Amino acid sequence: MEYNWGRKEFLHQLENLELLISREKDIRRKLYLEKVLDTSNKLYYETFVDFPKPKVTAKQRLTNILDSHFSYGRYYSIVQSFFNNISEHIDTIDEISNKLERIDPDGNFDFMNTGATITFENTLNLVKEFYKRFDSELYCYFLEVYGDREYSLRYSKLPKEETKTDGTTLFIDGVSKNFITVYETNPLSTYICTIHEYGHAIANLINPEVSYADREDLFMEVAAIFPELIALYENNFDFETIQVLYQMYTNLVTYVNSAEYLCLHNPILNAWADNKHIMSNSFFKQLEEFYDMDEECFEEALSTTIEDEGVYVISYAVAMELLHIYRTNKKKAIELFKRFLKYPAKEDILAFIIENIPINKHIGEEANIVLNNFNRELKKRRY
Ligand SMILES: [Zn+2]
Repeated sequence: MEYNWGRKEFLHQLENLELLISREKDIRRKLYLEKVLDTSNKLYYETFVDFPKPKVTAKQRLTNILDSHFSYGRYYSIVQSFFNNISEHIDTIDEISNKLERIDPDGNFDFMNTGATITFENTLNLVKEFYKRFDSELYCYFLEVYGDREYSLRYSKLPKEETKTDGTTLFIDGVSKNFITVYETNPLSTYICTIHEYGHAIANLINPEVSYADREDLFMEVAAIFPELIALYENNFDFETIQVLYQMYTNLVTYVNSAEYLCLHNPILNAWADNKHIMSNSFFKQLEEFYDMDEECFEEALSTTIEDEGVYVISYAVAMELLHIYRTNKKKAIELFKRFLKYPAKEDILAFIIENIPINKHIGEEANIVLNNFNRELKKRRY
């Protein structure tokens, strides 16, 4: 089977949605579907029409961060506590990353490569098998998306400008259609990425209005990251141990780095206010003197946002807490996960999380497991 949906399939669904709207008698439903159409049209342009991204000045980015800091204050504190809880392991992370640099200066990680390849069809079969073992109710939703894979799934090479290996999942409610893109990398990453994207697709079918709700919600990635963590933890299909541990390690490091930059937003904003909102020499001097922040670090912090990278940090923190529960009580963890997925789109999801999942409580412990396991495996191989 070819997996390569494109412009044609997407436009076809937009037409179906328009037809649905014209026939809809219920005015509230009609308004909602019009909103879906509007959002999906934007998605269409972002996906298929290439237009140059406008250049954003440093001042504009600072203003955006100031706005986000104001609207997402509660989420910034989750990131801060995530970082505080992990900070005692920063030395170990540095130690491992130095070691990796010595083993593999080019960063190709060929030392882990077994040369094994696997077809998409086989990857998909593994993903199907994974969801079947994961949970019978979620598996039914999985089958719904999977059955339509000829028109809703595509495998593509990782675009050059893209550094993240994440795929994407677009969703059009009303016609209940997911469009999944998975990037093709090594066998393990492709498998994990497919699980991740199907996690989004399942969540979209269970609770279609979430994508279109105006709620403040930075937990969107939990639906995808939790199954991803379980797939790595269970390793049902005997992927090479070192590769699995490496993937867990890089996940952790990526999110710790993002968290560190996000934690710099507060001092940057303070220094900016101290300097009358002018990026003067004294502004940069203050950052350098008090926070040891050079220009490169400042630039990185400015291009890391709570809406983009923060979502992953926050969702990862929740997913790791669910994994912690899963270790001793699989059933409980999956029930909690399903309650999370089904939580009404109009209600405050943060309240649900705080009440039911002790976010960041065991993240230090979990990070320690990830780092120790990977380090031990490296030592076993005399690295
Ligand atoms: Zn995702």
